[in-house]
Amino acid sequence: MNSFPCRSCGASTEREVLDLGIQPLANNLLHPGDIGKPEPRFPLCVAVCTHCFLLQITETIPPVNLFSEYLYFSSFSDALLAHAAEASRRYQHEFQLGAKSWVVEIASNDGYLLKNFVAAGIPCLGVEPASNIAAVAVEKGVPTINRFFGADLARELVDSHGRADLILGNNVFAHVHDTNGFVSGLATLLASTGRVVLEFPYACDLIEHLEFDTIYHEHIFYFTLTALIPLFERHGLEVVDVERIPIHGGSLRLTTAHAGAHSASARVQQLRTEELKKGVGTTEYYEGFADRVHQLRLELKELVSTIRKSGKTIAAYGASAKGSTLLNFYGLGLETIDFVADRSTAKQGRLTPGTHIPIVPADELFQRNPDYALLLTWNFATEILAQQSAFRNAGGKFILPVPRVEII
Ligand code: ZN
Repeated sequence: MNSFPCRSCGASTEREVLDLGIQPLANNLLHPGDIGKPEPRFPLCVAVCTHCFLLQITETIPPVNLFSEYLYFSSFSDALLAHAAEASRRYQHEFQLGAKSWVVEIASNDGYLLKNFVAAGIPCLGVEPASNIAAVAVEKGVPTINRFFGADLARELVDSHGRADLILGNNVFAHVHDTNGFVSGLATLLASTGRVVLEFPYACDLIEHLEFDTIYHEHIFYFTLTALIPLFERHGLEVVDVERIPIHGGSLRLTTAHAGAHSASARVQQLRTEELKKGVGTTEYYEGFADRVHQLRLELKELVSTIRKSGKTIAAYGASAKGSTLLNFYGLGLETIDFVADRSTAKQGRLTPGTHIPIVPADELFQRNPDYALLLTWNFATEILAQQSAFRNAGGKFILPVPRVEII
C-alpha cells in the first residue's frame, strides 16, 4: 500500500485495514452489448489514519466516472420512503420549520425526502449530481439543481438564496473525497442558528458486524465520532447531537451547528465515551478485521459449493453496490449464481459489474424458483423477505451472507 495524506487531517501515517483486491465500479451495471469492452477496475483497499483515525479507501476515483448516470433511485425502497417521511415530520416539529425557513438537501436523489417538505409548504432546494435523477425530482415538483456540493456552490447559494436553516445529507458525506471542502461548504451555507443533519453508515457497525461489502469506491470514508469531531471543529462546527439508527446495517444521524449556537445533547458525550472504551482511536480496534472477513468469505464459498455440487440452484437478490463488492471479492459469477433479481426497473436487463450476471425483475425469483437466493441487500432483509413470501412459501430459501452465513 502506498502512503497518502489523510483526506481529513493531512497526516501520512495510515495503516491498511482490508484489501478487497482490484474491483470494478460497484454501480457500473453493464448493458449486454458492453460485454467484451474494457471494464475499468481499480484497487479497493481501506486504511485508517493513525493520527485522526479516519477510515478511508486508498484510491480516489474521479467523481464524473461514478455519478454521471446513477441508477440508484431511493423511491424503489418502501423502507427508505417511510424513513424519509418520518424524518421530515420530526425535523419540521423539532426545528420549528415553516414558510419562512429554507431547507437544502445535498444528494437529494429523486426527491424522495424533500417532497415531504414541498407538501408541507416549506421552501427547499435539492442538490443532486446525477442528471438523470435530478430530472426525476424536478418532474415531481421538487426544486433541484444538478450540481456537486462543495465550498464554491455553498457561496453561490448564499448569494442567490441566503443561508439555510436546515441542511440535510443522507448517505452523501462518505462519498465526497474533498471532505474539508464539503464541511467548509456546510459552515458557509448554514444560518447562524441553523442545523446540519447528516446520515451515514457507522464505521463501528462495519467493523463489529463484518459489513465489509459496504466498502466500494464511492464510499471513500467510514466515519466514527472520534474521527469526525476534529473534522467539524476545523471548520467552526460542533456536533450537537448523535443517534445510532438501524438503516443500512447501522448508521449515525449526526447533527452539527455553528460552535456555541446550540448546546450538545448528552448522547454526544455518551457515544464518545463508548468509542473511547472500545479503542476506536487506537490501531488495535482495526486489527483482525481482515482475518474475520476472510473467514466469512470461506464459509459462504464452502456453502455455495456444497449446494451446487448437490445439483441445486442458486440465484441472488438485490443488484446493489454492496452485492458487487461481495460477488467480486468472493469470486462468485455465472458458474454459481444464475441471475440476480431486483425490483428497480432501471437495473433490469443489465449485468452485474465484473461478474456479468443478468439482472431480472424481482418476481422472477418466484417464477424461476431456484432452491436458494443469496440476499445481497441484507440491509433490507425484513422488507425483502416479506415481499418474497411466495418464493419462500414455495420452498425457496434465502442465504444471508453478513454478519454471519445463515440460511432462512
Ligand atoms: Zn487523519
